[in-house]
Amino acid sequence: MTSLVLPATHDLRTRARACLDRIGVVVPEGGDLYARTPITGEDLFGLRGGDAAETTAAVTAAHDTFLTWRSTPAPRRGEIVRRFGDLVRAHHDDLAELITLEAGKIRAEAYGEVQEMIDIADYAVGLSRQLYGRVIASERAGHRMTESWHPLGVVGIISAFNFPAAVWAWNTTVALVCGDTVVWKPSEQTPLISLACARLLARAAEESGAPADIHRLLIGGRETGEALVDDPRVALVSATGSTRMGRAVGPRVAARFGRSLLELGGNNAAIVAPSADLELTLPAVVFAAAGTAGQRCTSLRRLIVHRDVVDELLPRLTAAFERLPVGDPFEEGTLVGPLISPAPLAALESALARVTEDGGKLLTGGDQVATAAGSAAYVRPAIVRIDGHSPVVREETFAPLLYVLTYDTLDEAIALQNDVPQGLSASIFTQDQREAETFLSAVGADTGLVNVNLGTSGAEIGGAFGGEKETGGGRACGSDAWHAYMRRSTAVVNYSGEVALAQNISFS
Ligand code: NAD
Repeated sequence: MTSLVLPATHDLRTRARACLDRIGVVVPEGGDLYARTPITGEDLFGLRGGDAAETTAAVTAAHDTFLTWRSTPAPRRGEIVRRFGDLVRAHHDDLAELITLEAGKIRAEAYGEVQEMIDIADYAVGLSRQLYGRVIASERAGHRMTESWHPLGVVGIISAFNFPAAVWAWNTTVALVCGDTVVWKPSEQTPLISLACARLLARAAEESGAPADIHRLLIGGRETGEALVDDPRVALVSATGSTRMGRAVGPRVAARFGRSLLELGGNNAAIVAPSADLELTLPAVVFAAAGTAGQRCTSLRRLIVHRDVVDELLPRLTAAFERLPVGDPFEEGTLVGPLISPAPLAALESALARVTEDGGKLLTGGDQVATAAGSAAYVRPAIVRIDGHSPVVREETFAPLLYVLTYDTLDEAIALQNDVPQGLSASIFTQDQREAETFLSAVGADTGLVNVNLGTSGAEIGGAFGGEKETGGGRACGSDAWHAYMRRSTAVVNYSGEVALAQNISFS
C-alpha cells in the first residue's frame, strides 16, 4: 500500500502562524493544551488553557457588560455585527485556511463554512431592526395587551470541532443583536480557529465602540464547559456536540432553572423512491455521506432504497465512492480529508465489525489510508448493505459510513427513517408529489430538517436549524430562532379608568 504524501508539520505550523498574524492573534503559547492538525496528526502549538477562576472572571465580565449592553438600541448593537461581517470577509482566506489546518476540512468546505459566518452576520444585522413583538386583543374594554422581547443575559456557547467557526457565529451574532453578551467554550480540538474568531470580534467591538467584554473566550476542555454550565449567571447555555454531552449538560442547566439550547447528534436518512431521478440523487448522496469525511451532524448515514431501484443505484454509488480522492485537504481535487483524530477511525472499525456480525455486507471502503505521519487518520468512505436488523445502525458513528437498507412501501421507508433515537435531518428523492408531501407531513419524517430531492446536509442559515428527540430540540439561525436568545414579557395596560378583572370575576 502506498502512503499518502502529506505536507510537513513545520510547514503547516508556519502557515497557521501566518494566518494568525494577519488576523492579529497573540497565541497564548507555553501550556499543555495542544493545538493539533489532523492533516499530519501532529501538534502545532502548546497553549495555556484557562482555569475555574478564569471562567468565573469571564462570566463576571460578560454579566457586568450585559447590564449596559441590554440598553443599547438594537440597531446600534447591529453595528458591531456588521463590522464583524466585514472583517470576516476581509479574512475569508485566513479563516478558511485555519479551518482546514485544524479541522481537516477540504478547502471548498472550509470556504463554505466562512461564507456561512458572513451570511449569518448579514442576517443578524437585518434582525437588529426586526426584534418585533405583537399586540394581542384584550378581553377587557380599555385594556391593551402587548408582547415584547427583551435581552436575556449572558449566553454560554459550547461548540463542537466539526463546525468550529460557523456554529459560534450562528449563536454569537444573533445573541449580540438580541442584547446578550457571550462567553464561548469552543472544542478543545480547535483552539486556533477560536482565537482567530474571538480576535476578529474584539476588533469589531473596538472599531464600532462596543464594550470589549460583550464576548469572552475560554480555551479548555470538558471541565471548563462544566464550570460555564453551572454558573447561575449564564442565562442560556447553547451547546452543540454529541448526545453524550447534551445528556450531561441538559440536566445540569435544568437543575438551576437555566435555559438550554441543545444541538446534538444526528442519524440522518434519505429515501430513494422508484421515481427518483438517479442523475440528481447520486451526487447528492455522495456529498451528503462522504463530504466532510462524514463528520457533519447532518451527514447521511442511512440510505433507504426502494427494492426496484437498489440494483441499479448500488453499483453506481459504490463506484462513485471508490473514485473519491482521499488525502491532504489542502490538495486541489481532494474530496475527503482526514478524520479529526484516531478515535472516529476506531469507532468506524468497531461499527463495521458489529454490523457485519449482524449480517451486513461491506461493499466498499472502511480501510485506513496509509500515511507516513504519526496519528493522522484517513479512511476510505464505506458502504454497508444490511437487509436484517442491527442495533449499530441506530447509533451515530461520526465517520464516513453509509448503511443501505431496502423497502417496499413508503410507510415502511418512513418507519425505518424514524426508527432511530435521533431526529436531525431526513430527505427523500422522488418525482411523485404524493410521496413528497406525505414525507413532509405530520405522518412523515420526524426530524427538524426535511428535504425533497436534495441530501441531508448543507442547510442555509435563513431557516431554523436543529432537530428533535436525542438531537436535543434546540433551534439556531434564522426564522424565529432568535426568540431563544431573549426573554418574553406580556404586558397589560388598563386605560379604562375602571377596575376590570379577567374572566369577568367580580371581587367587590
Ligand atoms: P463533543 O460532545 O465531544 O464535544 C462538544 C463540546 O462539548 C466540546 O466543546 C466539549 O469540550 C464540550 N463538552 C463535552 N462534554 C461536556 C460536559 N459534560 N459539559 C460541558 N461541556 C462538555 O462533540 P464533538 O466530537 O466535538 O462533535 C461531534 C458531535 O457534535 C457529533 O455528535 C455531531 O453530530 C454533533 N454536532 C451537532 C450539531 C447540531 O447542530 N445538531 C452540529 C455540529 C456537531
